[in-house]
Amino acid sequence: MPIYEYICRDCGARFESMRPMREADQPISCKVCLSPNTYRTVSVFFAASEGRAITNQTGCASCGGGSCASCGHH
Ligand SMILES: [Zn+2]
Repeated sequence: MPIYEYICRDCGARFESMRPMREADQPISCKVCLSPNTYRTVSVFFAASEGRAITNQTGCASCGGGSCASCGHH
């Protein structure tokens, strides 16, 4: 399951949440101040099979480090 990173607009906290991909863009409450005013930021994906984090800086949020039809990243 991918880990998504969120930023709170109210207190500026950065936090991560492991969620199913289909819930990635659903609202999530800040873990610090519980504000619902948060947004998803750069994707940090966990390659569960390799046990390490991959930060994808070139593709779009749905790339996951591989080829992506939505942004053309290869
Ligand atoms: Zn907050």
